[in-house]
Amino acid sequence: MVRLNEIRHGELAVTNPPPATDASLVFIGRIHTPWTDRLFCPRQGRLDGPVCRIDIFEPWVPALDCITEFDRLEVLYWLHESRRDLLQQSPRNDGQARGTFSLRSPARPNPIGTSVVKLISVQGATLNVQGLDCLDGTPLIDLKPDRTLFTPIAPRQAGDDQAEQAS
Ligand code: SAM
Repeated sequence: MVRLNEIRHGELAVTNPPPATDASLVFIGRIHTPWTDRLFCPRQGRLDGPVCRIDIFEPWVPALDCITEFDRLEVLYWLHESRRDLLQQSPRNDGQARGTFSLRSPARPNPIGTSVVKLISVQGATLNVQGLDCLDGTPLIDLKPDRTLFTPIAPRQAGDDQAEQAS
């Protein structure tokens, strides 16, 4: 049976988690890259790009346990130098504007960036990865195994109900 908010045998939690009703984010680390100027940052990371460092802050370091089981991770980060007011943008500066939600521009109401990276190594609280495209010092929001490594749930099909009842 699933019990709401239970701590299961072997699980570990922080003592002062962010309140569930608070949508503000907790930066769990910092990303170190060779880029200090947005103009020289790649628009998207490449898996053969430079090795970048992700430092995880306490108390989140134990959350890295088992991460080396995955060679590709999704990294979520806060594009902290972005403007947050643009509804439509002209990426080519040619007078042709598109809605912010049809772009991967860093300028967005909640400037969250995501990249799939190759995990090179983990040393204590530090991960070395390839595939990032953000400025040196960019705050880290989350790390997850790459979603393409997980099988999607197939849509229900005609006959599924009878098959389940029979099993
Ligand atoms: N890969 C992410 C995505 O698709 O969600 C980010 C893509 S965004 C086009 C990458 C650009 O954001 C970089 O070329 C740089 O100009 C800008 N950028 C990178 N780090 C930033 C930061 N910390 N604050 C603001 N802008 C940043």
